[in-house]
Amino acid sequence: MNTETTPLDHDILLETIVAITEQRDQHSLELSLFASLREMLQPQRGFFLDLPASGPARTVLPSRDEDVALPEGVIALAREMSEYDFRQAQTPETVYMLAVMEVFKDGGRRVLLVGMPSWNVNSERLLVGMVRVYQNFMKLMSDSEKDTLTGLQNRRKLESHLSSRLAARLHDRREGDGTGSTSPGMGEYLAVLDLDKFKRVNDTYGHLIGDEVLLTFANILRASLRDEDRSFRYGGEEFIVVLSDVSTDQAARVLDRLRSNVASHAFPQVGQVTVSIGYTMIDCQDLPTRIIEEADKALYYAKEHGRNQVRDFRALRAEGAVEDNQHDGSIELF
Ligand code: GH3
Ligand code: MG
Ligand code: MG
Repeated sequence: MNTETTPLDHDILLETIVAITEQRDQHSLELSLFASLREMLQPQRGFFLDLPASGPARTVLPSRDEDVALPEGVIALAREMSEYDFRQAQTPETVYMLAVMEVFKDGGRRVLLVGMPSWNVNSERLLVGMVRVYQNFMKLMSDSEKDTLTGLQNRRKLESHLSSRLAARLHDRREGDGTGSTSPGMGEYLAVLDLDKFKRVNDTYGHLIGDEVLLTFANILRASLRDEDRSFRYGGEEFIVVLSDVSTDQAARVLDRLRSNVASHAFPQVGQVTVSIGYTMIDCQDLPTRIIEEADKALYYAKEHGRNQVRDFRALRAEGAVEDNQHDGSIELF
């Protein structure tokens, strides 16, 4: 046995894997990996960094937006690496191990950086192994939040996304409009989308073609929204979109463009398919169920008034066209 290397402590390793796989969201997972690596390797320095496609590196852990003054060469190397890649970068006092944890659509990336005076076989294997456990578990988590037909996020993810967004906005809430928006007049909007007369598509062309339409619809949805907007398959032929940091006018425009992109698309075999959309501004003091209910009322109104249209719950409420939900004291969670 190589006496220069310290054998791994199996108990700590096992505890660490248990701790990592207990986590249910990315940030807790990162925290857990970070804490474990610190405990097991006792590095000189360790960071999770965000390297945006353009602009300077920002720390995510151990604390946010810390000024860490890393050598340019180390950052440049991290920018060149691909996902799941490991590399070493040497500086006079420290040898850094770099792992690219995630590459974003725009080329930006999340990087783990661990600096030791030197690395040996065991410490390298430990780091690589722990990062692999983390990455596999992240993949498992993200798969369980995806709809298998369309690849959109599923209802389960919508629930956790809404709950965490509402909590964060409530926390950031500024005095004034009570929406928790950071810029005046801007807010978050939730829209419920339901394909029109979709039963007829299935009945006429069969379920497989129906599925094909849902997949194409999801692609139009993705193509019509910005990266920061989120879309979910809520169930069957119902979808939910969350638009962030838009004005009422912008929300109306984005959703109507989406509606029109669907209506003007020639779906193979089926031809025209239309969608009805109801939306509402998200008030951070509301429960997710209430927000969805409001958008659903506007959707119902669109269905009743000719389909292939977009309706705003707040505008309808102001006209007295829909009834407001009453807080009846009962709390219904998903
Ligand atoms: P409208 O919404 O315009 O009122 O009419 P609709 O025909 O779409 O109404 P409804 O919501 O009652 O019907 C939805 C249909 O969607 C029923 C079901 O056959 C179909 N559907 C639900 N999930 C799937 C799916 O995963 N694949 C396929 N092919 N069809 C689905
Ligand atoms: Mg439906
Ligand atoms: Mg429908």
